[in-house]
Amino acid sequence: MADPIRTQVLVVGGGPGGYVAAIRASQLGLDTVLIEVDRLGGTCLIRGCIPSKALIHVAGQFEAMVRATGQGVHGIVLNAPPSIALSETVRWKEGVVDKLNAGVAALLKRAKVRVIKGWATFSNGKTCSVDTAEGKLEVTAEHVILANGSLPVALPNIPFGGPVISSTEALMLDALPRRLVVIGAGYIGLELGIALRKLGAEVTIVEALDRILPLYDPPLVEPVRRWLEKNGVTVHLEAKALSVERIGDSAHLIAETKQGTKRLPADKILVTVGRRPNTQGWGLESMAVDMDGRFVKTDDQCRTSMRNVWAVGDLVGEPMLEHKATKQGEMVAEIIAGHRRRFEPASIPAVCFTEPEIVNAGLLPSDKAAKDAVVTLFPFSANGRALSMDAAEGFVRIVSRKDNHRILGIQAVGAHVSELSGEFSLALEMGAVLEDIAGTIHVHPTLGEAFHEAAWRALGQPIHI
Ligand code: NAD
Repeated sequence: MADPIRTQVLVVGGGPGGYVAAIRASQLGLDTVLIEVDRLGGTCLIRGCIPSKALIHVAGQFEAMVRATGQGVHGIVLNAPPSIALSETVRWKEGVVDKLNAGVAALLKRAKVRVIKGWATFSNGKTCSVDTAEGKLEVTAEHVILANGSLPVALPNIPFGGPVISSTEALMLDALPRRLVVIGAGYIGLELGIALRKLGAEVTIVEALDRILPLYDPPLVEPVRRWLEKNGVTVHLEAKALSVERIGDSAHLIAETKQGTKRLPADKILVTVGRRPNTQGWGLESMAVDMDGRFVKTDDQCRTSMRNVWAVGDLVGEPMLEHKATKQGEMVAEIIAGHRRRFEPASIPAVCFTEPEIVNAGLLPSDKAAKDAVVTLFPFSANGRALSMDAAEGFVRIVSRKDNHRILGIQAVGAHVSELSGEFSLALEMGAVLEDIAGTIHVHPTLGEAFHEAAWRALGQPIHI
């Protein structure tokens, strides 16, 4: 065994929560070690957000070409339909991932973080043994930051393997499945289901609840529902995936639907029924930290119940979003360095990269705390930029207090609205009132004008509607 390492800060996990915590800690003068068994970048960069957005981008381009075939669209005419070589798409996507992965490695190196490639197993709160290619290594730290992330949830009767895949395999397909069945109409199921539909797969979705994207209210989800309907995606709501019958490489999903038991033929069955915190197999039980259900319990500074053991990101609860993890990682490093910080964002905005996209920041009209709020929306059908992109579907919506006009929540659904999420968050974080948004010049012609107009509308003085 090599000589034991002693360090001030030990970070476990090289995903967005972990690598940001490590860089920040090192920048603040703390001697920092980061342990990661896989490639640097974590779920988001290697097998989640980034590769899925690359696939979604290609799928959008492909679909536009399909629409231009034959009759043409807006004067563009393709004489023959496009074809897709998915293995080429996957190779390009891997190039994007490689670039970002190398970028993270370079950032850690520049910050002088010591990165150890291996699997860490804790024997107590501050000590772990790391299995590396060169053998075992013991690391002891004054502070430990746990950023172990999450894993896809498997269904007991429909285990992963063969045609049953998780989002990880869905992002590495070398050929398009002719028939795809998706279990779970949440973020991942819809983002990937829609992308693969655009590329030409026949898609069927099986969802246990009575609507798609159950986190959001029906008006926000309606444009996505319409897209699915218009594009021939079959959606079974209040349906239960029971089991799989395998026939060679393909399969049937047996599902209990409102129309009775169905055998849904599939070349691939994509299971996207949520993710679970990665709490097993690395000695968490030896660390004596309290749990909060399946998550590691933390306070608003990401402290666990064990002194100087911290936890961030997917490990500590919903929402399992990259930008929550990075903010927490950065904060913990600063607290260890002596800064006064707390994790109390006005909102953790979320974007669903469906067709069209959905953004939510702050309170939804259906939230209890928004019971007496005023809800106002401005439709993209009255926005010049949206019309000039042939994207009139959707709206921006503001939830505001009746008495002092304080903005409590902002949502949007429409093409490219993900790019409005920063402005929405900033407005909430700065405690904006309707007059702040109405009084801010928004560039014409942009989609952001719909936010400006929604604020004017909430003040009872709309110009363009
Ligand atoms: P999810 O929680 O978003 O959706 C899971 C869906 O599966 C739910 O609608 C649920 O009702 C349904 N379901 C559960 N069990 C089922 C069953 N047995 N049969 C049929 N339906 C069933 O989970 P996800 O889509 O797997 O995403 C996991 C996490 O990843 C999310 O928490 C999200 O935060 C994150 N994520 C975020 C983004 C983004 O920010 N754009 C994208 C992808 C994933």
